[in-house]
Amino acid sequence: MRAPFPWFESGLLPPNVANKIGASDGDCWVWRAAKTDGYGVVQHAGRIQRAHRVVYSILRGAIADGLELDHLCRNRACVNPAHLEPVSQAVNNARSESASAKHRERYQQRVTAQKGGGT
Ligand SMILES: [Zn+2]
Repeated sequence: MRAPFPWFESGLLPPNVANKIGASDGDCWVWRAAKTDGYGVVQHAGRIQRAHRVVYSILRGAIADGLELDHLCRNRACVNPAHLEPVSQAVNNARSESASAKHRERYQQRVTAQKGGGT
């Protein structure tokens, strides 16, 4: 049986957030509720917010003013804080697909290693 995801044990995420995180795709935490432009959205603290920012701020702490969260896994629906890196808007805009290729490569290697087994 698969080990439970850490947020279930920590109880840090409010149920209306935790309930919307579906089964993992690799080690992505895939948002399975409402999305805008591929990004999960959720009502939190009285307003509609990007789900990955909500999850990140709860589990990792406040996101400094002006910073955006860059998806290292390039999966917009993912809310796994381990896949998110706070960067300035300038950095986020400047990062091309090739600039993030290293991150993606590292991520893919982890996923492949996890699947492992077989022949
Ligand atoms: Zn991810």
